[in-house]
Amino acid sequence: MQLLKDAILAKGRVDSEDILKVDSFLNHQIDIQLMNEIGKEFKERYKDEIVTKILTIEASGIAVACITAQYFGIPVLFAKKTESKNLDAETYESRVFSFTKDKYYQIRVSKRYLNETDRVLIIDDFLANGSAALGLKEIVVQANAKLVGVGIVIEKGFQQGGKILKDQGIRLDSLAVIESMKPGSIVFKP
Ligand code: 5GP
Repeated sequence: MQLLKDAILAKGRVDSEDILKVDSFLNHQIDIQLMNEIGKEFKERYKDEIVTKILTIEASGIAVACITAQYFGIPVLFAKKTESKNLDAETYESRVFSFTKDKYYQIRVSKRYLNETDRVLIIDDFLANGSAALGLKEIVVQANAKLVGVGIVIEKGFQQGGKILKDQGIRLDSLAVIESMKPGSIVFKP
């Protein structure tokens, strides 16, 4: 997606070899025009599929998931990272390793909002080693729902997530795939 790649090149910052900061349009300040184009692009790619729910993980996946869901006309369900009295007692749970925080955490989704009739599109901002996407997939499996695909805004193609998901037969749509990056230089996969 050229518009997204242009934004990454113009505004993305690579501080270390493996973390891309896109705080000015995706992860802190949010560029809604760009999010709309991203949402339309996901809808275009999945226009021949029946999708009943978009599943993401708090916090950074929620914005892109919500805007994307508008184009599908379906709800967004986000996995929660913290235990809370607000959440139903009956939950699906899985464990995710945070690439950015370097630790494991538990994610939870109420059983009330996901079941075997659902056809789920997982949406997230980044794909690195695939732990978040696989944790969400595990929740879809527990619900006996159908995983239609995984939509990612930015995949770091030099990490393992893309290969792991494809090896499991999961449909993966990444709107920008980075082949390599270092401070001052970002190269996309053609
Ligand atoms: P994974 O679980 O695939 O290893 O990592 C994906 C998750 O970690 C995403 O939900 C995203 O929030 C975060 N993440 C991974 N790599 C990056 C990165 O380079 N930049 C930012 N901003 N977030 C990242």
